Amino acid sequence: MSVLVYVENWDGKFKKLSFELVSFASETAKMMNSSVIVLSIGKVEDSELKKLGDYGAGRVLALENELLATLDSQAYSNAIAEIVLKTGSKVVILSNNNTGKALAPRLSVRLKAGVGSGVSKLPLSTDPFVVYKRTYSGNAFARVEIRSPVKILTLAQNTFHLTETPGNAVIEKIELPEEITGSTKVLDTKKQSGKILLTDADIVVSGGRGMKSPDNWGPLLELADALGGATACSRPVSDEGWRPHEEHTGQTGKIIAPNLYLAVGISGATQHLAGVSSSKYIVAINTDKDAPIFEAAQYGIVGDAMKVLPKLVDALKKR
Ligand SMILES: Cc1cc2nc3c(=O)[nH]c(=O)nc-3n(C[C@H](O)[C@H](O)[C@H](O)COP(=O)(O)OP(=O)(O)OC[C@H]3O[C@@H](n4cnc5c(N)ncnc54)[C@H](O)[C@@H]3O)c2cc1C
Repeated sequence: MSVLVYVENWDGKFKKLSFELVSFASETAKMMNSSVIVLSIGKVEDSELKKLGDYGAGRVLALENELLATLDSQAYSNAIAEIVLKTGSKVVILSNNNTGKALAPRLSVRLKAGVGSGVSKLPLSTDPFVVYKRTYSGNAFARVEIRSPVKILTLAQNTFHLTETPGNAVIEKIELPEEITGSTKVLDTKKQSGKILLTDADIVVSGGRGMKSPDNWGPLLELADALGGATACSRPVSDEGWRPHEEHTGQTGKIIAPNLYLAVGISGATQHLAGVSSSKYIVAINTDKDAPIFEAAQYGIVGDAMKVLPKLVDALKKR
């Protein structure tokens, strides 16, 4: 009857979302009088695995295998499904990011399990099992009852608080279940290095089509650097190839909730806001005083980004 949560790491360090997932799983397990099993895939040191115990993990299953060295959603979902069956877990929790969105439907088929995607709160009840989730790009909420014996939940990022509960997780190294294969083989990967992970960043400086051209990004990057923040962009900007796809935030991109989100030359379309509206403070810079972004923002500057950004950078450098 356990709750199994799959956590993600970045070069051996758990992403912030992993601790959120374990906190959420731990509170869900309490509601079910059950326990939390955490599954970590990849090379992670014991000292890092132990940290999961601080958020309520009782057991941590650490799986390291060459076949799972890169994220192949078919191989991963085969492995996770086997582990769910072996542990007899009844609830499986993943992040509602690109990884979770790729794994949840595959797991759903393999485990004949209903999925509650993008849940943003603890289940409203566990018998019947009813979850509360965002829908229509966060413009509405839905209550969804999941009736299958195994339930899969993907947690909307940055919607659940971290709950530290001093504990001592038991770490078990496990082997890959037999006959786990994927149909693709990753030949090469290029990882970002030295950059702040967008989904973990406290400060994000983001540019939209109002930046006019990729050549104008210099001051925006300087501002992000001066603030120690990460950079992001709207979808048309990544579609145009002005900025890399992994910076795109919104309904079809990353969902983030930094303390400060600076939206520069971004109109504030609902699809964009779906990814950033949980930010603590939104500051907008836009030439159009009626742009919808100002309705979402706590602070706004009506002005030309090309003039405002260098002034902000200068002011920060002087401080
Ligand atoms: C199914 C679907 C999913 C989508 N998913 C996403 C998503 O995940 N993320 C996303 O971002 N979009 C998404 N979109 C697109 C979305 O609807 C908007 O088209 C997009 O967000 C607009 O991007 P933008 O604000 O950069 O550009 P625009 O809408 O063109 O806005 C540019 C803004 O810059 C301002 N501006 C112009 N010049 C300057 C200047 N010199 N200085 C300052 N401001 C200036 C303008 O006043 C304007 O407000 C999606 C659309 C669909 C249909």
